[in-house]
Formats: sequence, C-alpha cells, structure tokens
Amino acid sequence: MENKEYNLIVVGGGAAGLMAAGMAAQRGLNVVLLEKMEKTGRKVRTSGKGRCNVTNTKPMEEFLSKIQCNAEFFRPSFMQFTNNSLMRFLERRGVKLVVEHGDRVFPKSGKAWDIAQALVDWCREEGVDVICEAKVEDIVTVNNKVLGVMYRNSRGFVRKIEAPNVILCTGGASYPATGSTGDGYMLAHKLGHSIVEIRPSLVPLESNYPEVRYMAGLLLKNINLTLLVDGERVTEEFGEMSFSKRGLEGAVILRVSRKAVDALIEGKTVEISLDLKHAMTREEVVRRIQREIEEQPDTITIGELIRKIVPRELVVPMAKLIDVNARKPVGEFDEAAVERFADLLKDFRIPVSDYRPFEEAVVTAGGVDVNEIYPETLESKLVKGLYFAGELMDLDANTGGYNLQIAFSTGHLAAQLRKQK
Ligand SMILES: Cc1cc2nc3c(=O)[nH]c(=O)nc-3n(C[C@H](O)[C@H](O)[C@H](O)COP(=O)(O)OP(=O)(O)OC[C@H]3O[C@@H](n4cnc5c(N)ncnc54)[C@H](O)[C@@H]3O)c2cc1C
Repeated sequence: MENKEYNLIVVGGGAAGLMAAGMAAQRGLNVVLLEKMEKTGRKVRTSGKGRCNVTNTKPMEEFLSKIQCNAEFFRPSFMQFTNNSLMRFLERRGVKLVVEHGDRVFPKSGKAWDIAQALVDWCREEGVDVICEAKVEDIVTVNNKVLGVMYRNSRGFVRKIEAPNVILCTGGASYPATGSTGDGYMLAHKLGHSIVEIRPSLVPLESNYPEVRYMAGLLLKNINLTLLVDGERVTEEFGEMSFSKRGLEGAVILRVSRKAVDALIEGKTVEISLDLKHAMTREEVVRRIQREIEEQPDTITIGELIRKIVPRELVVPMAKLIDVNARKPVGEFDEAAVERFADLLKDFRIPVSDYRPFEEAVVTAGGVDVNEIYPETLESKLVKGLYFAGELMDLDANTGGYNLQIAFSTGHLAAQLRKQK
C-alpha cells in the first residue's frame, strides 16, 4: 500500500473520515485512510448510548439554529449533503431508520454499530485502503502545498505516504478513549492555522452547594431549567436532569452546558433555577401546599409534609432553605413558610461552580478557526490541498443528532475535491 499512488489521504476514521474516504473513492479517487486506533468508527459505535442518534429531521433553518456557532460556515456543507441525503444514503446501504421524539433519527435496530459498519463496508467496496494503528504525526508540505503525511505504525516505525490532498478529520478532544485526543489541533497549528480555544461542551456540571450531597441519585423529570449568568436569565430548557456524586447531569444540563462553561471560563457567576412545578402557577402551588396541610393529621412532621410534594432527596435541602425544622409538627408550618416553600418550588437555585473534563464531554467546542477555511470546499486558505471535516473545526451543535450530521456533511463536501491538483 505504501508504494501505491494516492490522490487523497484521509486522516482519522471517525464519522467525518469514513464519509470523506468513501465519497472520494466513489468519485474515482485513490484514497488511503489512516486511523490511529485498532479499528475505525469507535466514537460512532458508542454514540447515543450505543443507539446512535444519527441526525435530526428538522427543516434547514431550524436545523441550522441548533448549531452553536459558525452555522453560516456550515450551510454550504449541509446544503450539499442534507439530513435527508444522509437518511437516503443510509437506507440505500441497508440501514433502516426510525424518527423518534424531537425529530431525532436512530437506526431501527437500535444499534449504533450498524451505522459504523455500513460506512466501513462502503469504504471497503469503494476500494479505500484503510490502515489502522497508524498515528499521523506530521503533514508534509512544500511552499504551502500538501505533499503527504508522516505516520507512526503499530510497530512504532515512522512511515511516509505521499498524496497531493489530505482531509484532516481527527475529531475533537472529548472522550479521548475513542481516539479523539486532539492531535488535529497540533497538526493544523503547525501549518499556521489558528485554533479557537477548545473547551468541553454537552458536559455535566458541578456544584459546590453543600446540599447537593443529599440529592445524589435523584432524577427529576418534567422540570423547567433556567440558566442564570451573573443573575441574568440566559436560556431555558425543559426535560429531565439528575444528580450524582460528581454533579449535575441529564439532558437539560447538557443542553445548557455550553453557555455555562463559557460563562465559568469568563469568571462569571453561574446558577441554575429549577421550576419543579412548571405546570402550576405560583398561586396554584400555594393552594396545593395549603390543601396538603389541611388534609394531613396534626401528627405528621414538616418533613413528611415536604415529602408529599417533592422527592425524598429534596426534603432536607428544602427544609433548610425554607428555614424550618423538618422534625417539628406540621402545625408549626406557618403562612410565611408556605410562601417560602412555594417560592422555592418555582425557583430552586443551585450554584454551578465548575464543569466536568473532556473525558465526559459529548463534544468539543472551539477548534480550527473556520475563518481560515473556504466554506464552499472546506479547503484551507493557508495550505493548498489541505481540507478539514468534522468536530476538529470550530463547529459544534446541541444534542439531537446535529453533531453527527456536521461530521457527515462536512466529510461529504471535503470529498468533492478535484482529482488533479
Ligand atoms: C459518548 C458520545 C455520544 C455521542 N452521541 C451522539 C449522538 O447520538 N448523535 C450525535 O449527533 N452526536 C453524538 N456524539 C458526537 C459525535 O459522535 C461526534 O461529534 C462525531 O463523532 C465527530 O466525528 P469526527 O469524525 O469529527 O470525529 P471522531 O468520530 O472523533 O473521529 C476522529 C477519528 O480520528 C482518529 N484520529 C485522531 N487522531 C489521529 C491521528 N493523529 N492519526 C490518525 N487518526 C487519528 C480517532 O482515533 C478517531 O477515530 C456523541 C459523542 C460522544 C462522545
């Protein structure tokens, strides 16, 4: 393989790399794909908790509104290979799909593995040479033009492969055990590319609020969560969240995490406010508490009353915040306490002190600066023959299948490069 003449080297065999390699080979290019792990597509295989939320059926503008930054840069990629194109492609490759709540698309089999395997089989059929355990350490250029790459093979020897084009698809820095350890940032930077500061996104948060220790294991469904930065309401999400020993987790936390992380990095005060009774007005909540008090015998304690309205794990923190003794009889729960309890149920504030590391982040925010990449081709503005695709770029989205679509659309567009350079 090493003496073969290639038109294109694809670096990284994740979602973007497999799409780019298969597509370029289908267009008649001689393609070699170098993957540093022992097999390709590891992250895709674990995505969506093993089910792979492969895309989202939302129409174009709504889809683009879920991209956290540089959505306009992504537009040409998406127009060239849309969510519908991806779904048609996968169904033609024998992967049946289903659309679930929130327009999220999954393989009908429920197996992320099927998505990865369809791509791997396609690459093989199109004649892509795949070399695993090949860690690219350098992109060789002369006069700002790509000549090939240097990689380290499984035996530790450095090898060179020549080609006039390279598509760099090494992913972000999140979940490094899947192979995405951020190598691409270094490779791009060495060639003069600017890297927008990388930080974890779609990541659990941490709270130094002492009461959180009582809440570990608690799952809250149907809550309204508002993110506050320096006291200002920034964004709102509805859904579920959970508390663990490590911090605040679950869908709504991940969805607000990008803004929370950026605010924490800027040294701002970050809090979440939970509306635990979102279907009721504050007045209705007050009436509900009063009704509970009237209906209970005088013998029950204040703690037991609180337990009738919130999950067990919240009793101790709530009693503390209402400033009542949970062991006292319910008769001592006066009108002022009812008002404080109602306030708390509608606006339960929890300070956010930190965020979890890249190891636990679903995606990486930041990356190769898209101002140095042509959006219509994804070729570098600095180095001829160098292309980018996937999470490596400063391009990330919310949960819901948008991130994989970014990888597939950009991989597909980068593969449209001309055969002769
Ligand atoms: C746990 C988890 C669940 C997720 N679930 C979803 C989901 O359901 N839906 C969704 O849309 N998104 C999901 N994502 C995000 C999505 O998987 C990624 O955004 C997407 O896989 C990025 O694709 P990529 O090809 O850019 O990078 P990756 O898939 O990370 O691929 C990069 C590849 O490059 C290889 N590589 C790195 N450095 C080198 C080197 N020096 N030489 C050679 N090869 C190298 C890596 O080994 C890796 O195989 C999830 C992410 C995680 C971590």
